Amino acid sequence: MATLDSKIPEGSISEKWTNHKNKINLVNPANKRNIDVIVVGTGLAGGSAAATLAELGYNVKAFCFQDSPRRAHSIAAQGGINAAKNYQGDGDSTYRLFYDTVKGGDYRSREANVHRLAEVSANIIDQCVAQGVPFAREYGGLLDNRSFGGVLVSRTFYAKGQTGQQLLLGAYSAMNRQIGRGKIKMYNRHEMLDLVIVDGKARGIIARNLVTGEIERHSAHAVVLGTGGYGNVFFLSTNAMGSNVTAAWKIHKKGAYFANPCYTQIHPTCIPVSGDHQSKLTLMSESLRNDGRIWVPAKLKDAQAIREGKLKPTELKEEDRDYYLERRYPSFGNLVPRDVASRAAKERCDAGFGVNKTGEAVYLDFAAAIERYGKEQARVKHLDENDSELVKKLGTEVVANKYGNLFQMYEKIVDQNPYVTPMMIYPAVHYTMGGIWVDYNLMTTIEGCYAIGEANFSEHGANRLGASALMQGLADGYFVLPYTIGDYLSKDIRTGEIPTDLPEFEAAENDVRSQIEHLMNNKGTKTVDHFHKRLGKIMWDNVGMARNIQGLNEAITEIAALRDEFYKEVRVPGKATGLNQELEKAMRVADFLELGELFAKDALHRNESCGGHFREEYQTEDGEALRDDENFAYVAAWEYKGKPSEAVLHKEELNFENVKLVTRSYK
Ligand SMILES: Cc1cc2nc3c(=O)[nH]c(=O)nc-3n(C[C@H](O)[C@H](O)[C@H](O)COP(=O)(O)OP(=O)(O)OC[C@H]3O[C@@H](n4cnc5c(N)ncnc54)[C@H](O)[C@@H]3O)c2cc1C
Repeated sequence: MATLDSKIPEGSISEKWTNHKNKINLVNPANKRNIDVIVVGTGLAGGSAAATLAELGYNVKAFCFQDSPRRAHSIAAQGGINAAKNYQGDGDSTYRLFYDTVKGGDYRSREANVHRLAEVSANIIDQCVAQGVPFAREYGGLLDNRSFGGVLVSRTFYAKGQTGQQLLLGAYSAMNRQIGRGKIKMYNRHEMLDLVIVDGKARGIIARNLVTGEIERHSAHAVVLGTGGYGNVFFLSTNAMGSNVTAAWKIHKKGAYFANPCYTQIHPTCIPVSGDHQSKLTLMSESLRNDGRIWVPAKLKDAQAIREGKLKPTELKEEDRDYYLERRYPSFGNLVPRDVASRAAKERCDAGFGVNKTGEAVYLDFAAAIERYGKEQARVKHLDENDSELVKKLGTEVVANKYGNLFQMYEKIVDQNPYVTPMMIYPAVHYTMGGIWVDYNLMTTIEGCYAIGEANFSEHGANRLGASALMQGLADGYFVLPYTIGDYLSKDIRTGEIPTDLPEFEAAENDVRSQIEHLMNNKGTKTVDHFHKRLGKIMWDNVGMARNIQGLNEAITEIAALRDEFYKEVRVPGKATGLNQELEKAMRVADFLELGELFAKDALHRNESCGGHFREEYQTEDGEALRDDENFAYVAAWEYKGKPSEAVLHKEELNFENVKLVTRSYK
């Protein structure tokens, strides 16, 4: 059994990382040339890690299932990336970013990791600016910032609503330089299907070439997973459709503990579900909450009239609207953290105030912002600020400059003009805070196997504050892993190339081949999507925004039964010897069907509410999450024992020495 040693360095919180870096072993430049590292995943985490490791001199083999690293899911990130630069002079600091992140995660994250994240956050911005990432700038040329939920400062750097795309282009350019130098060998359209462990150490992977269907063996001295999150276990989410848990799940089955699988972020501002035909949901960035005001009608009869199309939202007077976030949380208002905003929307909709046909939508309204900006512009330009048409035009221009691409996306999907009528939004699955357990060095419980970015559980606790995933992925890839992995690799300078004809490679390859054969030869009648949708429904209904003991027990039984049915009834058409997207999906859904059960089991064992994990049995009189710090201030790290129901729980107790444990309040 692997031990759960988080390896947090000694010393005060602000000195741990510096001291650690000063003490760990280094690999000299000549020796780096003799060391191979596999990086699976080339999103922001994997891409930045691959580029940096290659720049340092290691030989990197990088894998992704898309046709280019440039298409990783990270490209979808819209709103921005946090950094404690204090450019606004509004009181920000490393400590404040650390504090906000620990509090935002509802005191379920590891202090030492979060502090390190806050420390390196400022370096990320410098690194990306040096790469040419076009962050938004103010009139005077300085980098601009905006605010995200759960904080009282402006520390979010952004590039319109395309921050992820621009950051990924930066990492991708850095990777390309190394591909050109021959230091990164890029394996596009390759899917990792198993990890190879030799003498207790991760020494390679088995991957399928998705174009030819060939099964390949690849070896290295260490394996890094930057394979993203598993929100698609819910079928519908804001994640890219290809995002999946397979790589993480395969290493879990080989000995890597899976931490806090039930911590999922439900994002409050997504375009509501419109019917059964959908295969994906669309996010409307949190940045919109800087200027948009969230409301529902104050009276049930008005909500009903709106749902029936008899009343327009713009016809409702101010006093007939309920700006429920501003009412309930006067201090943070529309910028409360995502878990709080999501639950508040659900509460209003459950009470009958929803505004779309299904009753599952609230408004995000820009009318006040358009007027405010319009008047300001009229004043600046010495025009008539009482001319309402002019004010609307000027204000619309400002809003379009800030959020134009998001408004355009909304209009294309919903066919309504959000400059004129308020957007309709509803919470949707967005991000997974849980993931592979890693120690302070980002190593999993398998020696030589690392996990970075959304794939690991690390910094976000039970809820992720906006703009902190990009920060974490890039911190891991550019600034943390390149140091910590060197300490491990320093013991491998004389090992030499790892051969791929070892029995361990053969055994792992045979396992992959037999799984593929089983799926291809199954004589079922139902599609892979049929099972994925049913799994998603079980997850959303019982393990979604609100959970309770009965629903979770039902989910565990139903998922196990669905998994049995999947293996009997699934049909995978085509051949395994070439491109076969149904086969790819079948292998991913097979893993989701196991993860889903562990997910529910984790939610069931955590008899408290914290962050995005809301157990109906544990709430305050106001309906807020009720933590149990005495019994649950730990990371739940699950060890695989043959099947999800047999998984064994290991606890990493969390110590809060630098942040006072208090009831989280945003009032
Ligand atoms: C719509 C949307 C908007 C967002 N906006 C923001 C934002 O504004 N700010 C913010 O901080 N966060 C945001 N997030 C979250 C953030 O985008 C992600 O958490 C982050 O980009 C994840 O990066 P990653 O590198 O860990 O994984 P990903 O970008 O998901 O990359 C995963 C990589 O792993 C590869 N891969 C996976 N499995 C395998 C396998 N088995 N074999 C081979 N390769 C594999 C993929 O090909 C890909 O290259 C947003 C998320 C969504 C969904």
